[in-house]
Amino acid sequence: MKAVLFEKFQEAPKVATVADPMPEAHGVVVKVEATGVCRSDWHGWMGHDSDIELPHIPGHELAGVIEAIGKDVKNWNVGDRVTVPFICGCGTCSECNAGHQQVCLHQEQPGFTHWGSFAEYVPIHQADLNVVALPESMAFATAASLGCRFATSFRAVIDQGKVRAGQWVAVHGCGGVGLSAVMIASAAGANVIGVDIDPVKLSLAKELGAVAALDSKSDVVEAIKEITKGGAHVSLDALGHPVTMTNSILCLRPRGKHIQVGLMLGDYAAPAVPMPKIVAQEIELLGSHGMQAHRYGAMLDMVESGKLDPARLVGNKISLNAAPEALMNMDKFLSIGATVITSF
Ligand SMILES: [Zn+2]
Ligand SMILES: [Zn+2]
Repeated sequence: MKAVLFEKFQEAPKVATVADPMPEAHGVVVKVEATGVCRSDWHGWMGHDSDIELPHIPGHELAGVIEAIGKDVKNWNVGDRVTVPFICGCGTCSECNAGHQQVCLHQEQPGFTHWGSFAEYVPIHQADLNVVALPESMAFATAASLGCRFATSFRAVIDQGKVRAGQWVAVHGCGGVGLSAVMIASAAGANVIGVDIDPVKLSLAKELGAVAALDSKSDVVEAIKEITKGGAHVSLDALGHPVTMTNSILCLRPRGKHIQVGLMLGDYAAPAVPMPKIVAQEIELLGSHGMQAHRYGAMLDMVESGKLDPARLVGNKISLNAAPEALMNMDKFLSIGATVITSF
C-alpha cells in the first residue's frame, strides 16, 4: 500500500510503498477514506512521543470502510463505515473494565504505538471494543475530524467539565480543539468566551456560538472576571502552552474547573502552576484525554440532530502526496479548520 513514512525524527517524511496490514484475530483493517493532520502527529514526528518506533507512519484521525476482519471479531462486517477514537483500549485492564478506555493501561494509538492512517489501510486492535459505526449521513472527512479534537473537546466539556446551561465557559486557544469546545459548550447552553491571538479565529468562535471573544494580548484574566462577574465556572486550555494554562486557571471563580486539553510536551512538559489560588479557592484541575468509543453515541446524536456541526471545522482537503509538507508545517498554525487527507 501507499503510505507516508518517516525514518528519522524531524527528517522530511516520504511517500513510500509498504506491505498491506493484516488484521489480528481481534482486530480489523480499515481502508482509509479520510484522515486528519493534527498537531499530535507533528509532536510525534518531532520525537516528543516516546511510544514511536522508527520507521513510522503517522495518522490517528481516521474514517473509512472495513476491509478485512480477524476471526474473533463479532460486531463488524466488511464494508461497514467506521471511525475509531485515537486511543484504543486493550479490553482487559482495570480502566477498560470500568469503561475508561481513554486512559487504558495498555492503550494502542494508531499513528503512535503502531503504524497509523497516513496510508491506504490501517490496522485497528480490539475492534469490538474500539470501532464506532458512522451514521450514513456523515461524510468521511467530517468523521475523521471527530476522532481527536472534536471528541476530546466533547469529553472535556460534557464529561469532565460537566458544563450546564447558564454557566460561563472560557476557551483559551481557538484552533481545532478550542473551536470544537466553543461549539459544544454553546450547544450545552453555556455562555462561552473565546480567547485567541488571531482575529479570524475569534470571529469564527463568535459564529460558532461564543458570546464574547477576547484578544489574548489583552488582560484576559481581568476581562473574563469582568464579563462573568467573578470568573468562569469552567475554563479550558485548548492550546497547551504555559500562558494559556495559567490564564485558564486564574480566570476561574472559586470552585471553578480548569481542564487541560492541549498537550504540554517538550519544553512545556513541567509548567509552573499557580497553586495558591487552587488551594484557597478549591479550584479543580482536570485532564482530558480523548474519548472512549462507547461515548461516541451521545456525540453523534447531537451531530445528527443538528445541535453540533463538526463539518464547519473541516478546512483544507489534501492528497496523501501533500501530507508530508502539511505535517511538517503543523506547528505554524496556518489553517483555521482541520486539514484532512481525502485522496490516497
Ligand atoms: Zn485497557
Ligand atoms: Zn489528533
